[in-house]
Formats: sequence, structure tokens, C-alpha cells
Amino acid sequence: LVIGFGLLAFCQSNYAQVNLDNRIEEKIDSLMAKMTLEEKVGQMNQYNGFWNVTGPIPEDGDASNKYEHLKNGWVGSMLNVTGADEVRKVQKIVVEESRLGIPLIIGFDVIHGYKTQSPIPLAESASWDMEAIKASAAMAADEAAASGINWTFAPMVDISRDPRWGRVMEGAGEDPYLGSQIAKARITGFQGEDLSAVNTIAATAKHFAGYGFSEAGRDYNTVDVGTSTLYNIIFPPFMAAIEADVKTFMNSFNVLNGIPATGNAYLQRDILKGEWGYQGFVVSDWGSMAEMIAHGYSKDGKAAAESAANAGSDMDMESYLYVKHLKNLVDEGKVSLDKIEDAVRRILRVKYELGLFDDPYKYCNEEREKSVIGSDKNMEIALDMAEKSIVLLKNENQLLPLKKEGMKIAVIGPLADDKNSPLGGWRLAAEDNSAVSVIEGLKKYKGNKVYHEKGVELIKGTEAFVFELDINTTDRTGISEAVEVAKNKDVVIMVLGEHGFQSGEGRSRASLDLPGLQQELLEAVYAVNKNIVLVLMNGRPLTINWADENIPTIVEAWQLGSKSGDAIAKVLYGDYNPSGKLPMTFPRNVGQVPLYYNYLSTGRPKYPGDDLVFWTHYTDEVNTPLYEFGYGLSYTEFKYDNLKLSANSLNKTGELSVRIDLTNTGKYEGKEVVQLYIQDLFASRARPVKELKNFKMITLKPGETKEVSFTINSKSLEFYTANNTWESEIGDFKVFIGGSSNTILESKFTLKD
Ligand code: BGC
Repeated sequence: LVIGFGLLAFCQSNYAQVNLDNRIEEKIDSLMAKMTLEEKVGQMNQYNGFWNVTGPIPEDGDASNKYEHLKNGWVGSMLNVTGADEVRKVQKIVVEESRLGIPLIIGFDVIHGYKTQSPIPLAESASWDMEAIKASAAMAADEAAASGINWTFAPMVDISRDPRWGRVMEGAGEDPYLGSQIAKARITGFQGEDLSAVNTIAATAKHFAGYGFSEAGRDYNTVDVGTSTLYNIIFPPFMAAIEADVKTFMNSFNVLNGIPATGNAYLQRDILKGEWGYQGFVVSDWGSMAEMIAHGYSKDGKAAAESAANAGSDMDMESYLYVKHLKNLVDEGKVSLDKIEDAVRRILRVKYELGLFDDPYKYCNEEREKSVIGSDKNMEIALDMAEKSIVLLKNENQLLPLKKEGMKIAVIGPLADDKNSPLGGWRLAAEDNSAVSVIEGLKKYKGNKVYHEKGVELIKGTEAFVFELDINTTDRTGISEAVEVAKNKDVVIMVLGEHGFQSGEGRSRASLDLPGLQQELLEAVYAVNKNIVLVLMNGRPLTINWADENIPTIVEAWQLGSKSGDAIAKVLYGDYNPSGKLPMTFPRNVGQVPLYYNYLSTGRPKYPGDDLVFWTHYTDEVNTPLYEFGYGLSYTEFKYDNLKLSANSLNKTGELSVRIDLTNTGKYEGKEVVQLYIQDLFASRARPVKELKNFKMITLKPGETKEVSFTINSKSLEFYTANNTWESEIGDFKVFIGGSSNTILESKFTLKD
């Protein structure tokens, strides 16, 4: 086993070594030969720039300020400096005034767009469309780079099974396979083919690791997960990120199995830089080094810096601890010079790859900034992504698509005319209230008459950006007006959901219901008009049992960014046939959480005919979700048929193919995401009842049939075994195909030696 591990580490790091560019390595060598220890430590220091760079440094006793530090070469990176002009100013300080003139790498949270906003990442993930996701990230990179930014702190690749956690809006949902494909699409989108091009930026795989498993879904909370979950669920998207050549990693605020991720040598040195041979650099999360004191792990700031540096955190984001203590720690022999040099080498490498040494101002081009940001082309990309992100959850009475003429439509709800919430969280550079609202989108279709009433407020107060939302609204006066407007209309479109800042960092919820008085509004309107199309705008799965039982039509529209209302109108009018599929389970009841499709079977499933109570269940709720992972409807219908395997067994070097016929049996052309799942029936670690292994997007005309086929080989059956190896194990497997994780067709095969 030890030999196996060593060999793996050797092969992987060797592989990564081969990829290093010798010319860059030589330049790093000669630059590092000129650097003092202070200057080396300086590269490992990142400051925030939102606040005046000449302001005092908090918690720093001496009179230094950020400007002095920049001049001294004690800063390697700034975050939150934006705009070609601003970036040029700060870059100029280090380039012209510091001894060696090493350019800064400028970081920013470009999460789902820069100025032009794409849908929130969870929504984009619902598209299952890797080309569109890649294009959306490339568009964001193009705009950010035009504004002087070199590096985004995205994608967040944390898998999460807990919709209470506000940051699910920023991820790709609950599945490691889908999450891995999306991680690669986003990274290749941001970084492009050539990192030194002026329209590409370095990406970050974050947060390493376990952040999405915070207990009870409360942000920053403790994480305690076993080996199987860590390796088989949490790690795969990070490994995929390395495959996609992601330039940096960010560690995480949380404690993982007792040790803060930031001070975690097992994660950062043994696994990331050891086993996986990673050559990029690791930035801490904001102040996460200093947080190790509150975690009860580090005695003081100096001890925190020592742990973080020894554990492999290469850059300190806003803890001020490296700049303050690292030199002394090296002098005292507590952190080796080798470790410092390794970190600096990693940071300089990315700067060279970005081309910052060739021209530190290459990303500061005001002309480009003007022409690129918010261009028609970028808005088209945002619109395309938004359409593809919408998921049709229910369309019972075929209220959709809407007729284009002669209808009276009531549009009700606090989000109907909202131009801010659709932008979602994490859109630091976007202009407030810049999204197309649903009303605006609908009014572009002139054939119908639109009547609007808000009904209730979403929050108390009206600020565009709010840290603490007050959702305890009590004003019911608008409900009766909304009810009046809803009467005698052909259709009522109700736009309900969450405020744009109700999900995101620090925005965990204990309830997943429609916030405030919206449920009351929905029921009051339903009492006078049952022809309701419920359009949901939210940053996480919600519990909408009542709506599912009563409302005939439900559209999941998430927070779709700048072109939100246009995308929603196109879908409602059938100019785009919805094709999205849920990347995360919608529970019926918050008490079921965590609820996810790839669970392990208990030893106590319910056997047919069994009437005992001793099987795994709740006495007051069923086990199943409201909408399962992978679920989503279309205006047309698809029939799955004729599953056939090319053989009923394969060996470790072989492969087999699985094929089905997919037929469009409905009236409209449509696109279906055909999903392939497997179950490993017995293994050295219990395996999930279903695991997504592949998917394909198929477009069919009405009446058309296509064969859809997938290949399975032993690599696709690998998992992290009880021997702590990535391997497939011989034995029996089930294979399932369908349009969601609640699959339609199934068969069996055997993996032999
Ligand atoms: C978040 C990171 C983010 C960083 C910089 C932190 O609070 O956890 O994801 O990149 O801030 O804005």
C-alpha cells in the first residue's frame, strides 16, 4: 500500500513537473536569487483594496500603511481593486517604486459575471450545458480582464447537500460527477487556451475542503466527514479542477475533522501538493489564518501564521499575519526557508504565466474596458445562459407555453418588477437594479394585456444591498388588491421567491419555505383564480409542497442575472422550450435535510409486505424528495425505450456500451438531458444506490427518435476503496438511464478481472 501511494504521488507530481515551462522556471530562479526574505514574504501577502490603500492596517501596531507596504515590496497581490485606471495606479506603485518592481496579481470575486451578470452558478448548473457554462465564464473573464483583473476566486466547487447553506447558490449542487464537469467547464472558460491573452484570467478552485458540509447548513460551522465522503464526494471536483489546470486553490474557513482547513497540512501538503502533485498556489480565505485563533487552534497570530505556512497556505488574504510574523518565524527556525521559497515560486509562476512581467499594465486598457463591458455580444451570452438555466417543474394543465395574443394576464408578486434580486448574490461589480424584470420581459410581447400588482413586500426596507434582511413583513394591505387584479384574468403569473441577498455567504436559512407573506398571498390569489403559473426566483431549493399540490404550473427561474426577465418571458411564451434539470434535490420538508439522490442504502429499507415500524423512515414525512436530482420537464414529452448493453460483462481493460432509443412523443421540438447512473451492488465501502456517471443532451423534433449511447469502462467505475486506493472492484453493477435520478430503464452487468 505504501509503495502504491508513493508511486501514485511520484507519477502524478512527475506528470505535473513535465508541464512546467522551463523558461519560466529559469526566470523565477533568477528573480528569486535577487529577493530578500522580506520581499519573498511580501509575495505571500494579499491586501484588500476596497478601502483606501493608504489607510492604516488594522491590528498593526506600527505606523505602516498599505501604501508603504506596496512600496517596500511587501505585497504580492491585491483584491477588490477594480477598473483599468485604479489597477494601473496600484500596479504603478509596486512597479515603479518598489526595489524589484514585481507586479501584483489582482484578484476579484468574478462569480457569475463581472458587470454583465449570468445566472447564479447553481442556476447555470441546471443547464447541464458545458459549452454554455464555459462561454459564460469566458464572457465574465473577458469583462473582468478588461477592467484590470487577473484572477477570479471562482469556481466554488464545494459539493453541498444542504439547501439551508446560503452558498449553495454559488456551487454546482450535490453531485460530484456533474460538479466535476462544471468545474472543468468554468475553469477552461475563465483561463482559456492561453492565460497570457488579455481576455483570460486565472481561476481558483475553492474552498479546500469540506466547506459545503458545514453542520446544519450554518455557514462557517464545523465540518466532520469520514474518509468515504471526503474522497468520493468532496474531492472529485477539486481533482477535476487540477485536470483543467486551475492555477490556484483557496482554502476554507471551516474546521475539518478537528483541524482548520487553513492550517491543515494533510489537506494542503499531503493530498493537494503531495498526492495530486499540484503546482499552483493556495490562497487563504479572507482572514481565515487569524480565525484559527477563534477556532481554538492557534494561540495567537504568530502561531496561526506558523501553522498556515507549514500546512501549505501560500498566500495570506487579509489576516496581515504573514507580513507581520513570517520573517521572524523563519529566523527562529519555525518555518523553513524552503517552504517560503516553494510558496513564492508558485505565486511567481502564475504571474509569469499571466504575462504580468512582460507588461504589468497589459490588463489596464481603458479603451478595451469601454468596448467589452456590457457589450451586446456579452448580453447575448448572458441571455442564452439564462434560458438554459430555467427548470420547468410542473405544467399540468398545459397553461404554458402562453398564447401570444388576446389574453389578459395578471402578474403578481414582490419579485415581478424587481430589477435587483434577479442579479443574485456575489455580483460585486454589477450595477444595482440593472436586471431586466419579469414585467419588462413580458411587456415586450405586445399581443397580451398585462396587469401588475405586487401583493406583498419581500423585505422591510428597500436598500439594494443589505447585510441583515428583515423578512418579517406584516403589511397585508396589498393582498386584497392583488386578489382583485387576479380575478377574471386568463392567467395569473406569480413571481415569488427569495430576495437576491437571502442566499450567498453568511446567508443560511433554517426554513426553506417561501419567505414572509408570500405563501399567504399565493393562497389568497389561488382562491379566486386557479390558473396560476408560479415563477420561482430563489438561490436554493425551497420547500413548496403546497404549491406542488395545488398550483398547476411551476417554473424554477432561480436568479438569472442581467437578462432575467427576457429569458423568463421567452420560456413562458415558448420561444425557448425549457431544458434545465435540477442540480440539487428539492426536499418536501426541511427536516429531511440533508436529502440527496446518491445516498447509501440503510440495512433497513422497507421490504414489500412488511408492516413493522422498524425500517428507516419518519413517522410524519415520507422519505422521498418533492423533486429529485436531475428532474426537469419540457413542453414536449420524451419516451425512453430499448435499453441494450453490448455485453453483460466487461473486464478491467475492456468496455461496454449502453444504448437506448429516445423519442420525442410530444408536439414541440425539445432538448432532453439523458442521464446514465450506475450502482455498484457490493464493494469494500458501501456504494450509493445510484451515481451519475454520464449524460448527453439530445435535441429532437416531434416524432423523431434517436439512439443515445454511452460507454462504460473500469475507470468510470472507480471509487476510493477501503484500501485507500482509487480503483474499480470486480462484481455486479446495475445501470440506469432516464431523464432524472428517478430513472426509467435499467439493466445489469458484471465487472471481471
Ligand atoms: C469568501 C471567499 C471569497 C473571499 C474574497 C470570503 O469571505 O469565503 O469565497 O473569495 O471572501 O472576497
